[in-house]
Amino acid sequence: MSIKDNLISIKNELPNGVTLVAVSKTKPNEDILEAYNTGHRIFGENKVQEMVAKWEELPKDIEWHMIGHVQRNKVKYMAEFVSLIHGVDSLKLLKEINKQAKKHDRVIPCLLQMHIAEEDTKFGLDDSELSALLQSEAFKAMDNVKIVGLMGMATFTQNENQVRKEFAHLKSIFDQLRQKLPEISILSMGMSGDYTIAIAEGSNMVRIGSSIFGARNYH
Ligand SMILES: *Cc1c(COP(=O)(O)O)cnc(C)c1O
Repeated sequence: MSIKDNLISIKNELPNGVTLVAVSKTKPNEDILEAYNTGHRIFGENKVQEMVAKWEELPKDIEWHMIGHVQRNKVKYMAEFVSLIHGVDSLKLLKEINKQAKKHDRVIPCLLQMHIAEEDTKFGLDDSELSALLQSEAFKAMDNVKIVGLMGMATFTQNENQVRKEFAHLKSIFDQLRQKLPEISILSMGMSGDYTIAIAEGSNMVRIGSSIFGARNYH
């Protein structure tokens, strides 16, 4: 199947209210344009430089989501245009995003990444780090970032029950947070291998790459 057919069939299958981020990392502009020409506008990248290069070359009505781990010294390159940063997992990073957003007179929407997987290689905050960040005076003083939701990645495993449990855990944190902060509305969880489980557990934003664009080659 073509990129176009994959994208259309996945979009038809998603319930109302679930936003698709088409993850185009490592893929060339022509592949992104094939998806764009179906009317799709939201694309996700995990490397700042690659996203900047694609933003420069591709149509300006694309909404670029940064889904990967962000190094603080790279924030300045994307502050002008990034629509949503998914992987915010420290106050230091948030401070830098705030500072760079201010230079462009923007408020950058961000998701806080929670650590829900068993593997310790996956980035993210735990419950107490999340509350500490949100309650800090430094965070309250930031005018150029807006926390609009949470993001998480489940353990890479064939054990569906475990994946389900991890997503359900993130959903429960999301629900609790939403009672205190009404601007929290996005729950970004689910990738090609696990998005149906994520949606069943309450995801409203899925990040899908290989099921749309095919397997990635890393050289
Ligand atoms: C690459 C990536 C995805 C998409 O992965 P696929 O398995 O290709 O769908 C989703 N989220 C993050 C954070 C990624 O880095």
